[in-house]
Amino acid sequence: MLDQKKTVISGIRATGKLHLGNYLGVMRNFANLSLDETKRCYFFVANLHTITTNIDPQSIRHDLREIVLDYISVGVDPERAVIFAQSSVPETSELMWILNCFTTVAELERMPHFKEKRGKLEEKEIVNSGLLTYPILMAADILGPNADLVPVGEDQHPHVELTRSLAKRFNNIFGKTFVIPDILSSEVVRVPGLDGTAKMGKSDKNTIDLSDSPDIVSQKVFKSVTDIRRKRRSDPGDPTCCNIYTMHTIMSNGDEIRYVHDNCRSAGIGCIDCKEILIQNINNILFPIQQKRFELTRQGYEFVDEILHEGGIVARNKIAPKVEEVKEKIGVPSY
Ligand code: SF4
Repeated sequence: MLDQKKTVISGIRATGKLHLGNYLGVMRNFANLSLDETKRCYFFVANLHTITTNIDPQSIRHDLREIVLDYISVGVDPERAVIFAQSSVPETSELMWILNCFTTVAELERMPHFKEKRGKLEEKEIVNSGLLTYPILMAADILGPNADLVPVGEDQHPHVELTRSLAKRFNNIFGKTFVIPDILSSEVVRVPGLDGTAKMGKSDKNTIDLSDSPDIVSQKVFKSVTDIRRKRRSDPGDPTCCNIYTMHTIMSNGDEIRYVHDNCRSAGIGCIDCKEILIQNINNILFPIQQKRFELTRQGYEFVDEILHEGGIVARNKIAPKVEEVKEKIGVPSY
């Protein structure tokens, strides 16, 4: 029965090309979840979150549709999962305002994500309040559809914890209203950056994009940072200090991982040999995604718009009654 299924919700900001870190980090998991008969998945494009850092109408519209294509290319089935634009459900913003009034400024200022974003922006840009209140919109995204499970990367865990606190706070005052959501992190993987940093991220320009051709993948991987103490082919390396090895542990098979590990330490292979194996494995992951995307792109954006339209109706039907219940409870119903 549909109402016995666990509700799963997650979203991705509409900010351009997705990369291997997005795919292996969360999107691959989205695809598996969408096929799970025990779950009802709601996957949205967080275009309202996007405007905290970018208000370029053309690019937001374009990126929204591209992300829908990405969702489907990586295996999310639009017949089973609800794919929608955050902006299709105005009640979510209404709920955000209400939750705002249950959140302290100190709680928001403590969020690591805010500190990091502010750190990056403050020299050249104004820190808008949307950056500060971003986690409350995320809480509304989660609580509005009564989500049981939220599959998110580690960096989003503080936001889900805040969501849980807000739900409990509200329930304590007004009686059971919100489901207390759990983080679904079992298969979330953190893919390291090509520049030697711990995480692949678009703003760090250290990514392999899902759309990269085999030639581009080769160029990027060959240029990437390895164990910096391994200067010559004859020097033994330390795989535990090398992002390329970490990527092998995510994308290569057991034999390959052991082979790279042992032969790096003994200088049995050079970094070029090691990277060639990784490149092949990356391309094997990307090929079916790119092929599916190519087929979808030929259908044009009308097909994407139809999915967004249908998904928007389903999501709104799910979320609006919850928001009305909340408004009723706090004494501000729609008249
Ligand atoms: S052989 Fe591979 S794991 Fe070892 S340092 Fe070179 S790239 Fe890194």
